[in-house]
This record gives sequence, C-alpha cells and structure tokens, in this order.
Amino acid sequence: KASGEQSTETAGSTRPGLEVGKLEDFSRWYQQILTRSEMLDYYDISGCYIIRPWAYYVWQTIQEFFDAKIKSMKVKNCYFPMFVSGRALEQEKDHIEGFAPEVAWVTKAGSTDLDEPIAIRPTSETVMYPYYSKWIRSHRDLPLRLNQWCSVVRWEFKNPQPFLRTREFLWQEGHCAYIDQASADAEAREILKYYKQVYEELLAVPMIDGVKSEKEKFAGGLYTTTIEGYIPATGRGIQAATSHNLGQNFSKMFNIVVEDPSATEKVAGETPKINVWQTSWGLSTRTLGVMVMVHGDDKGLVMPPRVSEIQVIIIPTGITVKHTQEDKDKVHKACNALLDSLLKAGIRADVDLRENYTPGFKYNHWEIRGVPLRLEVGPKDLLNSSVLSVRRDTFVKQSYPLENIDKTVQQLLETIQSDMFAKATRERDAGVVMVSNWNDFVPALDNKKLCLIPWCNTSECEDEVKDRSAKSVADDVPQDEKAPSMGAKSLCIPYNQPTNPPIVPGQTKCIQCGNDAKVYGLFGRSY
Ligand code: AMP
Repeated sequence: KASGEQSTETAGSTRPGLEVGKLEDFSRWYQQILTRSEMLDYYDISGCYIIRPWAYYVWQTIQEFFDAKIKSMKVKNCYFPMFVSGRALEQEKDHIEGFAPEVAWVTKAGSTDLDEPIAIRPTSETVMYPYYSKWIRSHRDLPLRLNQWCSVVRWEFKNPQPFLRTREFLWQEGHCAYIDQASADAEAREILKYYKQVYEELLAVPMIDGVKSEKEKFAGGLYTTTIEGYIPATGRGIQAATSHNLGQNFSKMFNIVVEDPSATEKVAGETPKINVWQTSWGLSTRTLGVMVMVHGDDKGLVMPPRVSEIQVIIIPTGITVKHTQEDKDKVHKACNALLDSLLKAGIRADVDLRENYTPGFKYNHWEIRGVPLRLEVGPKDLLNSSVLSVRRDTFVKQSYPLENIDKTVQQLLETIQSDMFAKATRERDAGVVMVSNWNDFVPALDNKKLCLIPWCNTSECEDEVKDRSAKSVADDVPQDEKAPSMGAKSLCIPYNQPTNPPIVPGQTKCIQCGNDAKVYGLFGRSY
C-alpha cells in the first residue's frame, strides 16, 4: 500500500490543486494534500516520511507551547540513548508483551553480527528506569521529573499513515517519580489538560478526555488517561495523546525504592521501604495528521492561524496591460509597506511579488498550503486606501481600510482561529451519538458516528463488541476503504459522563451483554 502511495505521489510534484475531493477518496486526498502543500514527502522505507519545513514549524510551535507548560511544573529536559539492551527491555513482563512485536533490533555492525542484538527504543521506560533506581536514593530525591524530546521506533504492521501511524515518530516522553499515588494521579491529569490545550487552543481540534479501558491501557501501567479526537470525513476516532499512571509496577521491576519518610519504627532493623509511584506521558507528530484531516478541504490545507508559519499572504492584483510600470511599482510598494506594518505588529506575514505568475496561480499556491488570510492589493484598492481580504477557512471576502490594518488583521486571525474550533466542535458533536440498543450500534458506526454506549466495562464485552461490529459489516457492506470492516474499539470512558439519561445502577443495561452497565463508554472505529 505504502509503495503504491509513493508511486502516485512522487517527490517534487508541482501540480497545483488537488485531483480528488475529501469525501470522494479520503486516503488519496490525504496523500495529495500532504505532498502538494509540501508538508511531507514519502521516503523509500515504508512507514517513514520526511517532515518538511511547512509541517515542522507546526511541530515546533507545539514544542514551545508544551515545553513552557512542563517547565512551569518543574519538569526538566534531558536525553537518553536510543538503544536499549534486550535485558533491560524485557524487565517488565506486561510491558514487553505489549511492545515486542513492534520492536526493531540492531543485529549487525558492518558485516559482523553483534554478540547481543540491541533494541531501538519503542518508548523509554526500560531505558530510563534503571537509572532512576540509581539516582533515587531517598525520598528527598523525589519528585524526579524528566522529559525528553526525541524519536522512537515502532515497527507497526498496521497500514502506515503519514503522521498518524509511522514507524519512526517524533514525540516527547515525560517520566516522573513520586512518593505517593495522589501526586502521580494529579500529574497525569495535569499533563492531559495541557495535551488537550495543544489540540484545542493551537490546532483548533476538539478533544474528549477520559480513561482507557483495561484492555486498551498502556502495557504494564496502572491506568491510562487519554484524549480522543474525531475525524468527520471517515467517522473514525483517533487516540490523540496519552498520559499514564504507571503505579508501582515499574518501580518494583526496576527496584526504585526509598525509605518510607512516615515510618516511625524499624522492622527487622530496617526502615520500611516504599516503591515510588510513576507516570509517563507522550505526545507525537500524530498531532499534525489530526489537524490536517479535521480542517483540510477540497482546495488543500486550512491552517489554524496560531500554528501557521505564514498567517497572512499579501498578493498584488488587478494589474493589466492598461497599467503603466509606475502603477505596478506603486502597488508593489504598497504591498511592501503593508508587509512592514504587519510584521511590526508581530503578525507572521509574507508577500508574493514573484514575476511571471498570475495572481490566480498565487492564490492557488497559498490556498493549498492553507495560509489563513490573503490580502489582495491592486490599483483600485490603493485609490480607496483599502485592501481586500480573503479568509482561507470560509473564502469570505471583505474590504478593509489600510488605516489600522494591523489591528484589523490581528482580530481577523483570532476570529478565524475561534471559528475553526467552533466548526470542528459542531462537526464532532454531530459525530458522537448516544446508543442504547445494540441494533442501532453498527448502523451508527456505518453512518460515521462514534457511539456513547452504556457498558458493563469488562474486557470480554469489549472483545465481543469488536467482533460483532466487524462481522455485521462484513456480512452486508462491500469491503473497501470507505466502509472499513474493522470492529469498533473502546476509545475511552469519558470523564464527562452523559447525564441525560444517566447510568442508573441496577437499571441501565450494557448494550452488548445485557448485564448491569457501569459507565458510558465511547466506542468507535478508529485509526
Ligand atoms: P503510547 O506510548 O503508546 O501511549 O503513545 C503515546 C502517543 O503517541 C499516542 O497517544 C499516540 O498519539 C502517539 N503514537 C503512538 N503510536 C504512534 C505512531 N506509530 N505514529 C505516530 N504517533 C504515535
């Protein structure tokens, strides 16, 4: 599949515009939008992609935002090696069971076989915790709060998808150790809140926060908190970021212990020990894919102003054969003056004065890249001391006086950002339905919905839901990309539980097994 994608979209494709609509062929649309906007390019190893500057800027904006948040919590950045010995990797049984099929191993140096193969980190619990055991000697060494910005490798066999599921991806991973559970609980939730802000405040994508089921939680952890997004075009959910309370499982395996500071007496001549409580949390370049899938349209990307490297593009227009060189110079001068005043106001603006390109070509060029606002300046506008603005999200055109244009643009960008979030929220709200009867479940999934269902919260039932929803599709819907036969997974148990109607203990029944429902679970087909 990946190599097929590659051949349809080769590097350096200069064709403007998209050949397919978002709803017509979503996966081709997604490939084209990424390559033609120059966000990403395909690479000759399946599942690996090149992140080009237009996308990397977004990632750096996310990094700056999130890094400031964790620094305010006194988390410190560091860097651990990407290699991990088999011995360390296999120390936590459940953890390695979860990750083993995806671990990539280095087995040779040049032509010589290594004595022992070395793994490439799929995540760094087993890389870091042997050293936590060394560094944490006393309760006074707690809390220990570290984070690293790095890449990890998971040789996933599910269909790779640029940004969403790649074999190497960029992320941050935070790893903290505390004396008690309450501190670890609180931190896991605080991080989740910042993850939600990354999506909602920077990328304008609404999230549902909650806890993962036992089956879906992080391998080896106590519980996983998660934010879940929704892709309206496919009706699928996507795990957007996760923050785990690891409990004491890893500290037991890696022997990370301190003397209990509250102990009043020794037992058998020794002060009682406690295993530390740990958290780990990760946010990856998947963020970029979610942003593209949610906001992009048939003309290309639609960038939220807060993360767009260029927020405003100025384009000279309306110059015809009737105009003199002097007229043209005047327009160009006005464009540059406008650019100056926007830059001075801290707006990320640019001007496209390229010769030999028509304004139409330039509109297209910047539309496909999703630049939030276009300002057109022509001889007529100058006569009126005005500019024509065109919003990328709505294509609404409006003329504004040049006077105080920096303030006007500032406000427009904020409006675009909040309108994009409001639109995505409306679509997400319309895409999540409450289902209280099994017969309505698969039709709702087929109708591109995520479903909130009364659920007994058992893994057996979760497996059944997945099997039954997969089968029902296979029976009566032709198999293709647009009607994926995959079963529905539990995405999370939302913190914000529906109250109308609420789960009534002993009365509300699980829609799968008919036993007492414990919670509303959010289920859906997912990436
Ligand atoms: P995990 O350590 O499995 O909890 O993963 C942390 C986060 O990284 C997940 O919530 C995903 O958003 C993201 N992620 C996981 N696998 C991939 C992948 N193959 N490509 C990109 N992002 C990923």
